[in-house]
Amino acid sequence: MAWSAILGQPFAIRLLRAHVQRKRLASAYLLIGPEGIGKRALALELAKTLNCERASDDACDQCGPCRRIAKGSHPDVHMVSPQGNAQTIRIDDVRAVLHRVALRPFQARHSVAVLDGVERLTEEAANSLLKALEEPPAHATWVLLTPQPANVLPTILSRCQAVRCRRLPASLIESWLASEQGCPAEMAAAAGRLAQGSLASAKSFADRWQAYSEMTAQFHATAPLQWLQWETPADRKALEPWMSGTIHWMRDLMVASHGAEALIQHAHAADAVRGQAARVDPERCVTALLRCVDLWESSQRMVSPRAIGTLLREEWLQLLGQGAGDEGQGNPRPMPHAPCPS
Ligand SMILES: [Zn+2]
Repeated sequence: MAWSAILGQPFAIRLLRAHVQRKRLASAYLLIGPEGIGKRALALELAKTLNCERASDDACDQCGPCRRIAKGSHPDVHMVSPQGNAQTIRIDDVRAVLHRVALRPFQARHSVAVLDGVERLTEEAANSLLKALEEPPAHATWVLLTPQPANVLPTILSRCQAVRCRRLPASLIESWLASEQGCPAEMAAAAGRLAQGSLASAKSFADRWQAYSEMTAQFHATAPLQWLQWETPADRKALEPWMSGTIHWMRDLMVASHGAEALIQHAHAADAVRGQAARVDPERCVTALLRCVDLWESSQRMVSPRAIGTLLREEWLQLLGQGAGDEGQGNPRPMPHAPCPS
């Protein structure tokens, strides 16, 4: 995968490539941007370019170093990412890489250490990394990746060359889904918009498209209260599809109620979105959407999934004009099958 094979990111590619051409590499880069937009691919491409046997400003993808880096088996290209239940990068993980980077490379001209999720360094690990960034060896480059620069230590930020990576245009993702993933045009268009610039998210939508479509069909069903009787989800995994699906759908209702047709993300169900938008109160929709975003954030903070599910159901009932206690009779139903991307 040469630079040209990376989707989007023309600014980041131009900058990194120019640094290689001029032999003016920073000792540390910080690639900033949302998940799934290609930060890791950029880091690995830089590693290949620095070590390709053809020694130009682009990788050949054919030589031994290029192949080993692509396979993740090069001894001088190190990848560290958050581990464990807490999803942190611990000091032992950083120390192991620091030790290797301090030595001469085994095979490479240039060692590259990639830390994916640098906002999740423990305090000890961050301090340990900081020392390495202050005195970098000439044969090594650090590439730190983060979607949340505000959560990275300022002392680390100040020692890195920041490189902003952008969300990919929906049209680019749509083309990729159609040509590389074989998605039907309608699905590619809708998943391309729903992905919000993230290739990883687009792939996730495409992989679960059937289930996602079935879930959103229940949002605008003629008898929506039937599915709103579901038993509240017991865990986050079961809750998340409903949370994220609800937020995407309510956003579309709000957009449609203001006549912004071109911004409707559920392009495959635009008629249903418009029909339901015409039946709900726009102000109530905005309120419900904002509350659901709050609920989403609460669910990330380990609040009980059952409690969040109950409140989510209440938001739907309010939006559809049915307050608590009006949601019908009978026993709770099991939650409908509806896995979808988070
Ligand atoms: Zn090569």
